[in-house]
Amino acid sequence: MLQTPRYTTGFATDEMLIGGTWRKPTATLDLIDPSDASDLARIARGQAQDIDAAVSAARAALDGTWGALTATERGRLLARLGARVAEKADWLAEMEARDVGKPLSQARADALALARYLEFYGGAADKVMGETIPYQQGYTVYTLREPHGVTGHIVPWNYPMQIIGRSVGAALAMGNACVLKPAEEACLTALAFARFANDVGFPAGALNVVPGLGAEAGAALSAHPDVDHLSFTGSVPVGTLVQTAAAQNIVPVTLELGGKSPQIVFEDADLDRAMPFLVNAGIQNAGQTCSAASRILVHTSRMAEVQAATTAAYQALRVGPARADLHVGPVISARQKEIIEGFLADAPETSVLARGEVVEDAPGSGHYVRPTLLGGLAPDHPLARDEIFGPVQVILPFETEEDAVRIANSTDYGLVAGLWTENGARQMRLAKRLRAGQVFVNNYGAGGGVELPFGGVGKSGHGREKGFEALYGFSQLKTVATHHG
Ligand code: NAD
Repeated sequence: MLQTPRYTTGFATDEMLIGGTWRKPTATLDLIDPSDASDLARIARGQAQDIDAAVSAARAALDGTWGALTATERGRLLARLGARVAEKADWLAEMEARDVGKPLSQARADALALARYLEFYGGAADKVMGETIPYQQGYTVYTLREPHGVTGHIVPWNYPMQIIGRSVGAALAMGNACVLKPAEEACLTALAFARFANDVGFPAGALNVVPGLGAEAGAALSAHPDVDHLSFTGSVPVGTLVQTAAAQNIVPVTLELGGKSPQIVFEDADLDRAMPFLVNAGIQNAGQTCSAASRILVHTSRMAEVQAATTAAYQALRVGPARADLHVGPVISARQKEIIEGFLADAPETSVLARGEVVEDAPGSGHYVRPTLLGGLAPDHPLARDEIFGPVQVILPFETEEDAVRIANSTDYGLVAGLWTENGARQMRLAKRLRAGQVFVNNYGAGGGVELPFGGVGKSGHGREKGFEALYGFSQLKTVATHHG
């Protein structure tokens, strides 16, 4: 059996960063390693009073040193933080692999993505400009892009580093002071990130981190009357709660929620190019990816070919502990495994086309799920329509372009869509007709590009993070009209 050696982070994990000081909480939570369900670390179980202290510290930072920095100075701090993250990428990757169960190389890619977000937003901080507006005689009118103020960031466990990079990175670039509530299932890299921020010289209170339960620290942050903007990434039901709480305070919210994203393979698709994406985009991070391509729509003329190739790919998939760095690691928790297996229990036997294998020496206590490829289901079957958040993909046939668009757009979600066709006119047409925040043509995900605005429509949420667009989301526009005669 692959034994997991005892792991230590080298820093106190059961603390919260509030106003530049690490504080002990009144209660704690235990983190487990999903690869073998062993105890990993103890973290703070932040309470409403801790959130309150963090929001006050953030407010004080805006009125103090942090608020007085120039955009260039903020950018330099972010760049320094990015460089520190890049330097420590292997250390962060090991930590994330233990905490989330992510295969090591995927965790390393996340650490480098965090570094890249910080580099990007560091460089962008002093390039966000207002405008002058031609107006009536005797006036000069211009706009200012200003921070919201205190921003709350509620982050899930599946990509902690990437999500912190795109939301906290952009918010800090615009001069907001942040309160980050990482997920209770995985938050070690959030704590490491906060330590780095302190080390590289972020002023006290610019970034505050309060781990804890969603219903406690998360709910307290969403409802706090002195928070000016909320960024939430997670499930639809919790997104609904966060938006409802924000509405009580008339606070803007960015919601990055779930998905049931399609990849569409047309009769003229270049399958050699498509194949690596078709399966990988479904099983990456054990399918616990909001933008997972969990549906593969295939023109009937290519169905036999695609089915044969994807079946072979699934049969070759190996599942095991994160540090073994196989195709698929464990899912985050026993509960998540139960949810996925509950979905699979409803799959008719004939619909199972292929399954990957859990390696023999994987610890029996780990949360392993066999990746499963399904076919022969109607597009409105719950397995083809609902987000499973596990390594499960469904192949669906279509006859015409019209069919493909109808099926692709038939879920409540609209996060990402992929298109495999050599027909240029069709590429243009469908890019417009697909209901999604991002459309990829002859690729899927474009390598994750931090520069590319990301977000959903429908139940996938609203608002955009990533890219320059996030800087507009994390700021507000003020119009100044001067009458000088
Ligand atoms: P979740 O909604 O249960 O938890 C996400 C975060 O919300 C956690 O930090 C949690 O503590 C907090 N939370 C829970 N209850 C809360 C409450 N009552 N008030 C405030 N905060 C609360 O989601 P999850 O299971 O951790 O993540 C899976 C979901 O997230 C999936 O649906 C997935 O698609 C989605 N997701 C979306 C994106 C995206 O960018 N669109 C990225 C990652 C995950």
